[in-house]
Amino acid sequence: MISVEEALNTLFALVNPLEVEIVPLREAAGRVLAHPVTAQRDQPPFPASSMDGYAISDSDYVTGRTLQVIGEAAAGTRFEGTVDQGQAVRIFTGAPVPEGATWVVVQEDVDATKDQITIRETSESNPYIRPAGTDFKTGKTLEAPQILTPQLIALLASMNISKVSVTRHPDVALISTGTELVMPGESPGPDQIIASNTFGLKAMLEAIGARVRVLPIAHDTIPALTTAIKLAKGSDLIITIGGASVGDHDLVGDVAETLGMERAFYKVAMRPGKPLMAGKLGNAAMIGLPGNPVSAMVCGVVFVQPVIRAMLGLGKTPLPHAKARIAQDLPENGPRAHYMRARIEDGQVTAFERQDSALLTVLAQANALLLRPPHDPALQTGAEVAFVPL
Ligand code: AMP
Ligand code: MG
Repeated sequence: MISVEEALNTLFALVNPLEVEIVPLREAAGRVLAHPVTAQRDQPPFPASSMDGYAISDSDYVTGRTLQVIGEAAAGTRFEGTVDQGQAVRIFTGAPVPEGATWVVVQEDVDATKDQITIRETSESNPYIRPAGTDFKTGKTLEAPQILTPQLIALLASMNISKVSVTRHPDVALISTGTELVMPGESPGPDQIIASNTFGLKAMLEAIGARVRVLPIAHDTIPALTTAIKLAKGSDLIITIGGASVGDHDLVGDVAETLGMERAFYKVAMRPGKPLMAGKLGNAAMIGLPGNPVSAMVCGVVFVQPVIRAMLGLGKTPLPHAKARIAQDLPENGPRAHYMRARIEDGQVTAFERQDSALLTVLAQANALLLRPPHDPALQTGAEVAFVPL
């Protein structure tokens, strides 16, 4: 049995960042920016008014002063002339501030007639003018790799970038194995249950940028497993669920090896999730997850998500851990790393009483995996622990 860290490093050695493709900005949300992007313009490209009011010389910003209104500047249409002392230009938010003007007085602070304004209030200490390039200047660079959030998409649009280079989606094939399984919506026989973690994993991996194909359920026979694994060919990552223990019906490893899989490891010192298998099948990485619903999902968090991130070019690192204090005493941990289903509330973490790896109701209530390292001593309430947020 190898440690979680060794297993993860072995998995990282099986994958590389995928190729880069160019996509329209409007389809780039959530993708991983592959190359840095540099702004080729200033924003705003001119000094712009940030209020509706009058553009004047700051020396005219004096209570009671009357100024001549000589024209108008609107967003998209500048005033072509120059503002001299004693003059004002009617101006609106987003309009270029005219030549000569160094102050915008807001319309609420003046008394206006058609051609004249009189300044009533001079309580502002800053002009309502955004200098050219206040948001960003030519040469401002967005570093890569990083995930394109809605905020970054808006910034790229503002830089006039309409296409971006992103890492292509990893293609993942998910094979559920087990004669006892049927798909949700089907009619299970009396000895059957519904494939569940398959759909949880699909959701988990798609949320971070994978494209997931759910293949038909493979029964626990050599021909069925052979067909399923052959159907998965062409994917970047083949994930099997179940059939990886040592029971008479656990045939996944043998069938995959017959088809050419080079096994990298089998069995990891963790709870839940011990019978985890990994290898390489042609160009694809292969991960054999344990079938127990919670084990498969926990291994999805601990191993598969970091592997997908590595394929996306986001680096070969475990998911970040956070720290919190426990709201209960916890007993000494055994020889395997324990990922306890837990809830963080008000900054304190509580592990659920029931930790059986078949309980999806408990996993569904959890918002954290509380991490107990191998042989962690007993902990008292208030002790600090690491956790992975869910
Ligand atoms: P296995 O790893 O095949 O021995 O499966 C361990 C347990 O997980 C058994 O109780 C299986 O019925 C169950 N199981 C296997 N695959 C799935 C799945 N895709 N969804 C839900 N339960 C599963
Ligand atoms: Mg099985």
